[in-house]
Amino acid sequence: MNTTDKPRSLPKLLIVDDQPINIRVAHELFRHDCEVYMATNGEQALAKARALLPDLILLDVVMPGMSGHEVCQRIKADPLLADIAIIFVTAHYDEADEVRGFELGAVDFIHKPINPTITRVRVHNQLLLKQQRDQLRSIALMDGLTGIANRRKFETALNRNWLQCARDRKPLSMFMIDVDYFKKYNDHYGHQEGDNCLKQIAQTIDTTLVRPSDLGARFGGEEFACLLPGTDRQGALYVAAKIEQAIRALAIPHQASDVANQVTVSIGCSTLSPTPQSDAQQLIAQADEHLYNAKNNGRNQISAD
Ligand SMILES: [Mg+2]
Repeated sequence: MNTTDKPRSLPKLLIVDDQPINIRVAHELFRHDCEVYMATNGEQALAKARALLPDLILLDVVMPGMSGHEVCQRIKADPLLADIAIIFVTAHYDEADEVRGFELGAVDFIHKPINPTITRVRVHNQLLLKQQRDQLRSIALMDGLTGIANRRKFETALNRNWLQCARDRKPLSMFMIDVDYFKKYNDHYGHQEGDNCLKQIAQTIDTTLVRPSDLGARFGGEEFACLLPGTDRQGALYVAAKIEQAIRALAIPHQASDVANQVTVSIGCSTLSPTPQSDAQQLIAQADEHLYNAKNNGRNQISAD
């Protein structure tokens, strides 16, 4: 799915302060253009940060119990939370304090009593930067031609799901899909048509994978890869067959193909039961081997474990 086309929801803002009156003032400032959440101590702030993944936290420095500095430190140390932007809110200007805050990873400071205009501008600037960072990241993980995930995203998802499936004692399946005689297609129809063909196949793969945990990616050239966490061999074969049929149903003419008069694919499937000690690359190697077999046996077919 091309995530950049989705309408963006309101940014999430978490306001942390031990004084409810301060939270109320900030809430009033942002309730129209942010989803505003509140916490009155450090533990609550961390719990809400984990549950909500806010874009930005307005974080009081001085609080009883866990200080704002400690909250910031913990957020920056957690890979899942580290991207959240943090603006410290302090009672008075103190240079050493601000230096410490920036060293801990804060992006800005606001002083109490908060000035509405300054606070709004600073928060909006940081939200804009956060949005741009998020967009850049999603572009970096997207294939430029087809708009589906790229190989980098696939490899990241593979490693993550390998560990998750090992923990849950679930199988992990994948398949490699290769467009048959694609070089001949390009030679015959031209590169523009070749690109169109790849785009249609990518869209078909993307729409055929219906579970949110499944991932379809362009692996490179005319090769695509699909990852199906928690899916056994039989389930993977079922999905592979559905994809093969959906691509055939596109009925893209291919006069230069040696196996059919339309575009077809070869698919290599593999399923493994991951363990934390084993290497996720095994799954790719095995799928590759089956893809090789499928091509060697005449293409336009599925080969599996
Ligand atoms: Mg305070």
